[in-house]
Amino acid sequence: MKEFKAESKRLMELMINSIYTNKEIFLREIISNASDAIDKLHYKSLTDKSIKVNKEDFAINIKINKEDRTLTISDNGIGMSKDELETNLGTIAKSGSYDFKENNEKKENIDIIGQFGVGFYSAFMVASKVEVISKSFDSEDANSWNSTGIEGYTIKKCKKDDYGTDIILTIKDEEDYNCYLEDSTIRNLIKKYSDYITYPIKMETKTDNEVKLETINSLVPLWKRNKKDITLEEYNTFYSDKFFDYEKPLSHIHTKAEGTLEYNSLIYIPSRASYDYYSKSYEKGLQLYSNGVLVMEKCADLLPDYFSFVKGVVDSPDLSLNISREMLQQNKVLITIANNIEKHIKNELISMQKDRREDYLKFWEAFGLQIKAGIYNSYGIDKDKLQDLLMFYSSKESKLVSLKEYIENNKDEKDIYYACGEAVEQIKLLPQVDALISKGKDVLLCTTYIDEFVLKVIGKYEEKEFKNVCSDNVDTDSLEEKEELNNLNNNEKDLLSLMKDEIGIEEVKFTSRLKKHPVCLSTAGDISIEMEKTLNAMPNNEEINAQKILEINYKHPIVKTLQELYKTDKEKLKKYSKILYAQARLIEGLSLDNPTEVTDLICDMLV
Ligand code: ADP
Repeated sequence: MKEFKAESKRLMELMINSIYTNKEIFLREIISNASDAIDKLHYKSLTDKSIKVNKEDFAINIKINKEDRTLTISDNGIGMSKDELETNLGTIAKSGSYDFKENNEKKENIDIIGQFGVGFYSAFMVASKVEVISKSFDSEDANSWNSTGIEGYTIKKCKKDDYGTDIILTIKDEEDYNCYLEDSTIRNLIKKYSDYITYPIKMETKTDNEVKLETINSLVPLWKRNKKDITLEEYNTFYSDKFFDYEKPLSHIHTKAEGTLEYNSLIYIPSRASYDYYSKSYEKGLQLYSNGVLVMEKCADLLPDYFSFVKGVVDSPDLSLNISREMLQQNKVLITIANNIEKHIKNELISMQKDRREDYLKFWEAFGLQIKAGIYNSYGIDKDKLQDLLMFYSSKESKLVSLKEYIENNKDEKDIYYACGEAVEQIKLLPQVDALISKGKDVLLCTTYIDEFVLKVIGKYEEKEFKNVCSDNVDTDSLEEKEELNNLNNNEKDLLSLMKDEIGIEEVKFTSRLKKHPVCLSTAGDISIEMEKTLNAMPNNEEINAQKILEINYKHPIVKTLQELYKTDKEKLKKYSKILYAQARLIEGLSLDNPTEVTDLICDMLV
């Protein structure tokens, strides 16, 4: 007897004690696995001519034996070798194990199951014993895997004529489980959950003197069926079965194109990013079928990178079965389908943004970063397609808004104001932002590192420029105020120039953009403070320095002090300059070049 891996044991325990109430789904899980196994063999035979299979023979057979209390599900798919039985059934499915381990401590058990689906182990919800007899398509040996539950499993050699797998469930000997030995229950379950499976699912029907095999499922894949005959539940079940995501998708888009180009497509917008989505190992792509036959598991050319989160299938009789990957890229049919699909996705997202805001916010939370990256990575080439999908936090509305909504909410404004930082509350406290908000202005508060780069790439939206309220000139003053400020800056040129030389930055000037704070930092040129931080955080980048400007509040009492010192004590003025500059850097979240010097200066004053 061999032991299960620790996490498998735990999952098995949950199954046997059946925390999951929907026990009947075990059949769906086992049939899906059988269908996958046939897919795999079929797919292999397309690329490897030495494998001889007859497509017509592929089938899943289901047999009930009431005397033995067994339910047997057989397939003639790819089968499993001894090693494969060991790795595939001795540990929980690879597809889910990551999530499982991650959430093991934190979440409720029920959630864990929901996270990655129940898979093969769901058999233990209804069976007291599970036997798997399997013969791999490329081997002469067959093996039998046996388990009665948590204690473990055994594997021994056995006899089996053809390749494929038999799953033999000994149904629990309790009243509640008798239904799984009833012909009618099993038929209904096949209809309910597995109707779209593309291989025939056959059951024996006994008439008086004859035993016949009858196909139970309708065999027409879901995407080929009529939209109006498909329930939302069917769409969602298909999604979770096929793409191993047990969270309901946000949307499905089912298209039937007829005419010069014929194809069916069924695509989904997931409601969350898979655990590997933002990693290098993630592969985008849609499943590609030619007339119901799988041609490619993940056809990357059907999806642009910025929509790489989309899952789905495309089926077209206009594609040849033996098409190679290289040929696909130039294939006119494929390019047209890809363009259509891209439009469908965009339209669906826009209508979700308009009519189903809550869902859209979920989408944005999961994939917003991908959309932003799409704009930035294309140097703006794709901005027209994507910019309306963007959402930013509006200081006035206290929620995420689209750029269009910002413009509608601020019709009289000439520009679009934004500010960047780590968190909304922190940005609001920046002196420049604080002053503008208290004047009633609406500022987009940008909290991801890529935001400002994206806005710079977009440049203008509906003729309005994006203005970083911390670095760009934001003109909200009255004429008198402007004149007063101008005069002050002109009259105190020498004072400002002395300060600038002492600190060693681009410029020091008086400003009207602050409300109560004495100083702030802004920049000249294209690089803002937030961009400097982001760029310098990237590896292998040369040290980037924004051209910094120290701005001093022209209404603050510190102005008088500075003017006084310029006349009486220039050395002290120099020290004050350094302290003011240090303050401005700290407010912006920048570190000090020489903290000891600054603290010494402050202490001198305290003494
Ligand atoms: P999942 O299907 O999510 O990967 P399961 O627990 O249902 O997880 O199955 C684990 C693995 O066992 C499958 O990935 C597959 O490799 C293998 N397997 C299960 N059933 C069969 C079958 N009928 N034929 C061949 N392989 C199978």
